[in-house]
Amino acid sequence: MNNYHTHSKYCVHGYEDIKEYVKEAKRLHMEELGFTCHIPLEKTFLESTYYKDIMLNANQYNERIQKGRESRMSYLDIDNYLNDLKEAKEENKDIKILSGFECEYDETNKEYVKEIRNKVDYLSLGLHHVFKDGKLYDYTKRVVVSKDTYREFNYDDFKVYAEAAINGMKSGLFKIFVHPEYFIDGIEEFNDLCVELTKEMVEASIENHVYLEINTSDYFKAARRNRKLNYPRNEFWKVVGMYKDAKVIIGTDAHKPERVGDFQFDSISKIIEEYHLNVSKKLEL
Ligand SMILES: [Zn+2]
Ligand SMILES: [Zn+2]
Repeated sequence: MNNYHTHSKYCVHGYEDIKEYVKEAKRLHMEELGFTCHIPLEKTFLESTYYKDIMLNANQYNERIQKGRESRMSYLDIDNYLNDLKEAKEENKDIKILSGFECEYDETNKEYVKEIRNKVDYLSLGLHHVFKDGKLYDYTKRVVVSKDTYREFNYDDFKVYAEAAINGMKSGLFKIFVHPEYFIDGIEEFNDLCVELTKEMVEASIENHVYLEINTSDYFKAARRNRKLNYPRNEFWKVVGMYKDAKVIIGTDAHKPERVGDFQFDSISKIIEEYHLNVSKKLEL
């Protein structure tokens, strides 16, 4: 099995140099290892008028977003990150190293993502927030924020996520849609709307040749924080299993070298078998 979802010290919440992750992947005899540090948001996000408005009008959000900022590399670090990856490729002929980013995608950052796409081997679509019609939909904090709004999510807000996901997949810029069920984090009922949106996203993934990722990082996070598992979510993967052409890949979302190969085979194989998922071991670029 190979892993195409790896962060490093460049994401400030990740740890260790790229070479430490490579060392671990080689110890596990992986053939390929893909790096996907979070896309820096300074340009489109932090300098956006929306963001400035939010900063002025919602102090509560201000504090939260400042913490959120710490999970991403600075725009100035892009070249260092890419140089480290280039070096890792050159130094390691016995494992294929792939360069990438985990990216947000919505109407406001399309051009920027296109620019970033040209610098790497592939991009992963990882939606944590979406800008739409002057509002920020934050799927991490489960809130909608605008100049004069600050409210908790309701089910209708999931449509915004699905729409951004589908547009992202249609853009042709992404190879993997990571933790696709992120929009339902922590919700109790996977209702008819969730089923409908999942179907639409799966169909877009098939049409646009994007892999859907079963992300194993929450086994680790849920255990550490002593809370319920948010993903993988069975109801979501049951819908995916209804489509035999949907391509699935497993990602460990490693933020530490020791998690590079944390595929959680025992738990994951049950889901794969039960819903007859079509899992690829190698990413076709
Ligand atoms: Zn993510
Ligand atoms: Zn990630």
